[in-house]
Amino acid sequence: MILATPGPVEVPFFAQEAVLGETIHHRTPEFKEIMKETLSLFKNLVNLPDAVFLASSGSGAMEAALINITKKKALTINAGKFGERWGKIAKAHNIEFSQLCYEWNTPANVEDVISTIKADSEIDSFYIQISESAGGLRHPVEEIAAEIKKVNPDIMVVADGITAVGVEKIDTTNIDVLITGSQKALMLAPGLAMIGFSKAAVKRIGGGKGYYFNLANEIKKQREFSTSFTPATTLIIALKAVLEKVTKEIGLDNLYAKTAKRHNALLESLKAIGLNIYPQTPAKSMAAVYSEQAEEIRKIMKNKFEVNMAGGQDHLKGKLFRINNMGLIEDYKMLWIVNSIEMTLDELNIRKFDGTASQTFSELIK
Ligand SMILES: *Cc1c(COP(=O)(O)O)cnc(C)c1O
Repeated sequence: MILATPGPVEVPFFAQEAVLGETIHHRTPEFKEIMKETLSLFKNLVNLPDAVFLASSGSGAMEAALINITKKKALTINAGKFGERWGKIAKAHNIEFSQLCYEWNTPANVEDVISTIKADSEIDSFYIQISESAGGLRHPVEEIAAEIKKVNPDIMVVADGITAVGVEKIDTTNIDVLITGSQKALMLAPGLAMIGFSKAAVKRIGGGKGYYFNLANEIKKQREFSTSFTPATTLIIALKAVLEKVTKEIGLDNLYAKTAKRHNALLESLKAIGLNIYPQTPAKSMAAVYSEQAEEIRKIMKNKFEVNMAGGQDHLKGKLFRINNMGLIEDYKMLWIVNSIEMTLDELNIRKFDGTASQTFSELIK
């Protein structure tokens, strides 16, 4: 079975192999060295001066960021399941917030954000997804962040890069907090979250908030390559292997170029067989396709062609299928995926099979 969901993604063999050695205790010089190297590789990946790893899923890092960064009021972007989560976290902690809501295929608008922060001086922090996985949508985060900083550099910009970090180069010039997780573009098993911080973010965090997710304590510890609590040692060891692979062996520019090329080939081959790409501004992490027959397509893809794709959530349940484009996906696997979709459309009498999808993909991936 090909795991083609946009998270969790397939864990490559070299990353699995990396954790097969002897168990290492986390309070040892050996593990300290691993922390040091892995944190350095991660800071280089996100181009931010500070970083911490947390033993939690990505949502834990979202919660950690929100409770530590917002001192007065948050502004959140809600254009999908994950954007909605900022507000749910704020509510759970009685943190004041307002949100800008968009349809799940529509990117946040710079003017909306700027007029909102200009009208409300209480807003001290801004929260957004770079790639909103619910609809496969790319928000213009860098542009919004730059405009926010022009209006008020004290507003902290927090970006959820869970399906963006490792997919494309992200300009963090105006981003203060960048969140990511293990099981998406970084190709690891679930359970590890990573956060990068700007100098201003560390200052804003001050003494921190919360207990397990007190980021001030965690930053202090991890600057010394230690952790407040027992870290997810095996995931950190695997992360080191993945980051070494993508930064040293493959090269980040190569990885991003290959991901972008495969994304273009994937989208074009789907369009060539009459399918509708859902988001107005597609994120490179996945292809999200709108179809009234999404559930039947997914069922045949799984049962007959052994490709496990993700569906839609909430109002898009049964109307969306999502194909992963994160990680080191072999071209032959993606070719099989687009070819199987074309065969599935034939099976459902939607469109007669003539090899258009695989032909389009092959021509564009050369
Ligand atoms: C998967 C995902 C999350 C949530 O991560 P969990 O690890 O499931 O908690 C948050 N944001 C985005 C954009 C995601 O894709």
